[in-house]
Amino acid sequence: MKIANLFKDNEKTVFSFEVFPPKKDSPIESVYSKMEELCALKPDFISVTYGAGGTVGHSRTCEIASKIKYDFGVESVAHLTCVNSTKADIDSNLADLKANGIENILALRGDYVEGAEPKHDFRYASDLCEYIERVDEYREFFDIGGGCYPEVHGEAENEIEDILNLKKKVDAGASHLISQLFFDNNVYYRFIERAKIARIDVPIEAGIMPITNKNQITRMVSMSGASLPAKFSKILQKYENKPEALRDAGIAYAIEQIIDLIANGVDGIHLYTMNNPYIAGKITEAVANLL
Ligand code: FAD
Repeated sequence: MKIANLFKDNEKTVFSFEVFPPKKDSPIESVYSKMEELCALKPDFISVTYGAGGTVGHSRTCEIASKIKYDFGVESVAHLTCVNSTKADIDSNLADLKANGIENILALRGDYVEGAEPKHDFRYASDLCEYIERVDEYREFFDIGGGCYPEVHGEAENEIEDILNLKKKVDAGASHLISQLFFDNNVYYRFIERAKIARIDVPIEAGIMPITNKNQITRMVSMSGASLPAKFSKILQKYENKPEALRDAGIAYAIEQIIDLIANGVDGIHLYTMNNPYIAGKITEAVANLL
């Protein structure tokens, strides 16, 4: 099923998960039991990331997306980055996804990899969207989603340029958007206002990451550029040396964010699960009746 169709039911908030493939040196099967547990929570779809700069390789993303869809019965989305790929690489990846029956793609630029020369066929995610839309066999088969940044993408000149660039991605074919994680819902609501002003009228899912351990915090905050509201920092300070309390407080914080977003009419919630069925399960249980 094409993801765009999930958003047609205006009465329901779409609820999806994100997972990542294991590192190159771990067998792919090592994540299958976790994937099965996550699928048992019955999210509307699960998206599978693509290793930065192709470090993990496309085949694992495709294999896991296929397992999720055909063995565990949940619709899947394969992330696909383009800045480190040639057109031939992208053609090969798209052919592979099509052959495996994966019809949903999250089209991304990806990050530049230190020491590696970027390829020059695609500069922005919008170029990848445009390419998929231009080729008949891709356009007919794939539904395309894109990423967006409530706190502005790190390389953008300013929030106006960033939102106008996002509009280009939507005009190039992205049928829905998934946001970078954020901890302050007001930041998200301001972003939605900018998107409306820019006439971005596709559904936007809010990316929520439950922060449940100390190591995750610094890494995630520096990777995503998300700001930490004082309320959240206080929780981190109070429980930084109590792992179980921090985990529970992180889950509670994410649930509170989600309830507020749903009450304010968000199109969807995309939960960054970190492949953790326990945490995703607690959150799903708390919000399932509210979606
Ligand atoms: P773009 O939309 O291309 O934007 C990049 C920058 O260029 C922005 O500053 C934007 O303002 C500007 N820009 C965009 N289009 C144009 C244009 N047409 N003209 C001029 N300027 C333009 N990375 C991975 O490696 N693997 C993953 O699986 C992955 N999953 C992600 C999932 C989500 C939901 C999100 C939000 C991000 C994910 N990323 C992933 C990270 C992403 O690859 C990086 O954030 C990257 O730096 C930007 O990718 P993008 O597709 O948002 O880029």
